[in-house]
Amino acid sequence: DGVMYTELRRPCRVMMLVNPHSGRGQALQLFTGHIQGMLTEAAVPYTLVITEHQNHARELVKKADLSQWDALVIMSGDGLLFEVINGLMEREDWQEAIQTPLGILPGGSGNALAASVHHYSQSSPAWNEELLLSCGFMLCKGLVGSMDLVSIHLASRQRLFSFLSLAWGFVADVDIESEKYRHVGAIRFLMGTLVRLASLRVYQGRLAYLPVNETLPTGKHPPPSTPQHPSLCSSLPCQLIPNTSLNRNSRRNHNSTNSNHNTITNSSNNAITTKRTETQSDGKTEEPVDSLLPGLDQPVPESWTVVKEEDFVLVLAIYQSHLAEDLWTAPGAMADDGLIHLFYVTAGISRPALLRLFLAMEKGAHLACGCPHLVYEKVKALRLEPISPQGMITVDGEMVEYGPVQAQIHPGLARLICG
Ligand code: ADP
Ligand code: MG
Repeated sequence: DGVMYTELRRPCRVMMLVNPHSGRGQALQLFTGHIQGMLTEAAVPYTLVITEHQNHARELVKKADLSQWDALVIMSGDGLLFEVINGLMEREDWQEAIQTPLGILPGGSGNALAASVHHYSQSSPAWNEELLLSCGFMLCKGLVGSMDLVSIHLASRQRLFSFLSLAWGFVADVDIESEKYRHVGAIRFLMGTLVRLASLRVYQGRLAYLPVNETLPTGKHPPPSTPQHPSLCSSLPCQLIPNTSLNRNSRRNHNSTNSNHNTITNSSNNAITTKRTETQSDGKTEEPVDSLLPGLDQPVPESWTVVKEEDFVLVLAIYQSHLAEDLWTAPGAMADDGLIHLFYVTAGISRPALLRLFLAMEKGAHLACGCPHLVYEKVKALRLEPISPQGMITVDGEMVEYGPVQAQIHPGLARLICG
């Protein structure tokens, strides 16, 4: 199917990280009950590391001698992998470190990557122990593909790396509020959704994105491109992207072609800060460089589309197929498609219509619901500036600082055991 895989070295030395508190608190029992024997039979030696506290895994991989390991495997929810990826990216030798093959075994209540990896293997849907066995089998097979990461900038200038999602509004609220139902397992998201529906609210903010250049349908000729405003050009620290406002979707839905005013800026209005976000205060360049992103205090480039609406029910950027075991959110997504799949739902949607979308998502059928409030775009970068004073933003299901945030894709930066 065109996917390029390499194979894990044999015998393969696995660092197996288990979070004993994830999900229903059974990750360790699930490991000994279902995975241990499988690994022994497949002659895959592993070292078991049971995490003792939050960020334990992050600190461990940050200073580990990675030449001792052929794979880092996470038996938990998505939260523990988020720690591991960020630990790897915080290393001086991040470029090599992030090449370490990563594996996932579903042991949490939010097992989006495990569900996605299972889906990429073209197997029919599986849940719970069946999903665990499928992922265990893939680990024994040892095929490694590449995985995109998304670099995320927060207002405090902190940068994170994400493999799954960036969410604001309804989805972020459900992510966090449903953590108290972790003991019920994956069904926590459905419970959280029902609870949140009862207190459905609107979130105000500005959203802009860099659409992916899609080839125009044959016979349609693009109108002449608008020249970049010279002063805007010179004030932009980023590499300017060819004007993509000809993109079919952006032309239909948005006002991206009308002049330089399609910009959103940081509400903090810090006019004296002109340096690039990827340059740290000590002048050192932060790598990998986010060439698509201006500083958060700078306007977005003209090639970006600014969404007209400012009243949202949710904004969700996802770069794997599944948001949870039973939420097939981005039907066409692959681990290394180089795309951020951006969904947003505008205000005015009724409770039943929103519920219908989430129920249809189990079969990936939400886009076929014909819901006029749901918009889907494929993008390479985005910026979100909440206006509502309160709310939650999550990255890979973990809560981050609330405020302006921007993100860009880094195609194939990491490696993932899959297939
Ligand atoms: P779940 O899917 O159940 O949410 P996660 O893997 O996402 O499982 O883990 C939940 C949270 O627990 C994450 O924020 C993770 O960083 C944190 N964590 C990891 N190890 C531990 C530990 N030993 N004790 C407490 N929290 C931990
Ligand atoms: Mg989690």
